Amino acid sequence: MENNAVMCSYNSGVFFGYVGVYGGDAILRLSFHLFAGSSIFLAFFMATDPATTPLTKRGQYIFGLGLGVLTLLIQTFMNFLGGSILALVIMDLTSPWLDKTGLLKPTEEKMEKKPPKAQMFETVKTSACMRCGACMVVCCHNLSPILIKEAFDKGKTETLKRLQANLCDGCGKCSFVCPARIDPRGAMLRAKASLRTVKN
Ligand code: SF4
Ligand code: SF4
Repeated sequence: MENNAVMCSYNSGVFFGYVGVYGGDAILRLSFHLFAGSSIFLAFFMATDPATTPLTKRGQYIFGLGLGVLTLLIQTFMNFLGGSILALVIMDLTSPWLDKTGLLKPTEEKMEKKPPKAQMFETVKTSACMRCGACMVVCCHNLSPILIKEAFDKGKTETLKRLQANLCDGCGKCSFVCPARIDPRGAMLRAKASLRTVKN
C-alpha cells in the first residue's frame, strides 16, 4: 500500500484527538475507531488516493495529521458526522502546497541509495502517476523526477532550472522504482538536454 504515511498520521490524529477530547478507555476508543466502517474506508481508500495526496513524505504526514485533526474539529464543534469527507476536501486543496514541503536538497555529490528488490515482468504496462513520491526518495541527487517531468511536459523552463534538472546523471533508479512504470529518467534526460539549449 502506497501512502502509508498518510494512513498512519490520519489514524493517529483521529485516535489521539478523540481520546484527548472525550477521554475514557483508550482501548475501547481505539477499537471503535478501527472498526467503524467509515473510518476504515476513509483511511484505506479515500485519504490514500494517490491522485490527490502530496508527493513528499513530510507532505504526506502533514496531510494525514491535518485530516485527522480537521475531522475531529468538524465532528466535535460543528456536530457534522460527515466531517471526515469535508476535512478530506479541505486537505486535498492543500496538496499542491504540500508537494513543495520536504523536498530533498539537490546535490552534485552522488549518494548511494538502495532501490527495493526487483520483480521481472514479461510485458510492461504503464499507468498514470500515483503520486507515491518513490522516484524522489530514491534519486541519488535528491531531485524531484516527477515534478521535473511535469514541468518539462508543460515547457516550463524556469521550473526545470529551479528544480535543477541539469544534475540528473541518468542512473535510472527513478524509472526502476516507479510503480506506474513511467520512465521519469527518459523525461529527466530530455529536460536536461533542453536546458543546454536555453540561454541563461
Ligand atoms: S535518472 Fe536522474 S532523476 Fe532519476 S534517479 Fe537517476 S539522477 Fe535521479
Ligand atoms: S513518477 Fe512513478 S515513482 Fe514518481 S511519483 Fe509518479 S508513480 Fe511514483
